[in-house]
Amino acid sequence: MNYYSLNKKAPNTTFRHAVINGIAPDRGLYFPESITPLPAYFFEHIDQLSNTEIAFTAIKQFVGDDIPEKDLKAIIEDTLQFDFPLVEVEDNVYSLELFHGPTMAFKDVGARFMARCLQYFNKNNDEKVTVLVATSGDTGGAVASGFLGVKGVDVVILYPKGKVSDIQERQLTTLGQNITALEVDGVFDDCQDMVKSAFLDTDITNSRKLTSANSINVARWMPQLFYFLFAYKRLKKHGQKIAFSVPSGNFGNICAGILAHKLGMPADQFIASTNVNDVVPKFLETGNYEPVASKQTISNAMDVGNPSNFIRIQELYGNDTNALKEVFSSSSYTDDTTKDAMKSIYNKSGYTADPHGAVGYLGLKNYLKDHPETVGAFLETAHPVKFLDVVKETLDIDIAIPEQIQSVLNKKKEKISISDYSGLKRFLLS
Ligand SMILES: *Cc1c(COP(=O)(O)O)cnc(C)c1O
Repeated sequence: MNYYSLNKKAPNTTFRHAVINGIAPDRGLYFPESITPLPAYFFEHIDQLSNTEIAFTAIKQFVGDDIPEKDLKAIIEDTLQFDFPLVEVEDNVYSLELFHGPTMAFKDVGARFMARCLQYFNKNNDEKVTVLVATSGDTGGAVASGFLGVKGVDVVILYPKGKVSDIQERQLTTLGQNITALEVDGVFDDCQDMVKSAFLDTDITNSRKLTSANSINVARWMPQLFYFLFAYKRLKKHGQKIAFSVPSGNFGNICAGILAHKLGMPADQFIASTNVNDVVPKFLETGNYEPVASKQTISNAMDVGNPSNFIRIQELYGNDTNALKEVFSSSSYTDDTTKDAMKSIYNKSGYTADPHGAVGYLGLKNYLKDHPETVGAFLETAHPVKFLDVVKETLDIDIAIPEQIQSVLNKKKEKISISDYSGLKRFLLS
């Protein structure tokens, strides 16, 4: 499978090179040249397939010949070493729990898949690759864990100072080995801009091979389509229309869901639920796409002012906003509304949602009001323990700390502070 740049000013390239380079030379995001729907019987009989079989069938065409089937199967098997429970919260409302991986947020799947692809591509190569990644919270931990100890790969993580939770910070600053954390005096968008600038800086790229592990990278972005298929496998038995509500920041996860739909997965609606960082809901309302500086919220992994994957969603609909609106909607919620939702879910169902999942729940409930015949899942993208302070304070409960988190709690944070792009450049050239 070949990939083209959405800026259309760079040559097309293979999956392998799209993964190794991360972003195209013209700064565009890579996009697959073709999307071939899977046969109808795949969806009819999906409940008889294992998660590994489903994932392999869905991703195979996007990898093409760059990884032999046997090796691709092994990569998927190794990536999907945990469960993806679908928990009934209310009638017609399910939580798709994506937090059972090593760092307890959904990004584990994309990070693990990408790390293993890179390791495969690097296997006969002594050239070191540096994975440079900006995080609004969970990416850093997932990438650090996914890439820890991978030979030939150095990982450099940029995160905004004081804007990630204590547990998130520990997950990315305590591993050591091939992982370095840079604490940036700024917001997430500053981190993301610095990463993009570094990719275009020949002083750096002449001395280091750089790649990204944000959802910009196709190997991080695409495997997220697995979740939607895993949920569909269990939702289809209801024989109802299906909606997915995805708490969205950079819109990579929901874009992968729409990709699953393009592969033929029956679904009626994809709801991008956001916090007050509402560029996309505003765009759908007004037709104007106006990126702004991100605002800090209690669902910090979604504090994104210029979602990098929205352009891929538009591409999936040939930039036809009316066609897009038939399956895609978006709504925005304040922190207060989110906390109220966390309380009401807990009081009604005894279910503990984290702030991101609660935003997803709100978007789904809003849609179901007008579509009572639909069954829906909101993606519970992180374990509530990752946002311990907010969850404890809002629900007035204690949460048992799972083992994955316990193991980082007492480790010492190691980080390097930088305040601007020159700081990043100095570090990468040193
Ligand atoms: C990253 C993240 C999101 C946002 O996902 P996108 O793919 O960037 O839209 C939502 N919730 C949590 C917990 C996350 O870590």
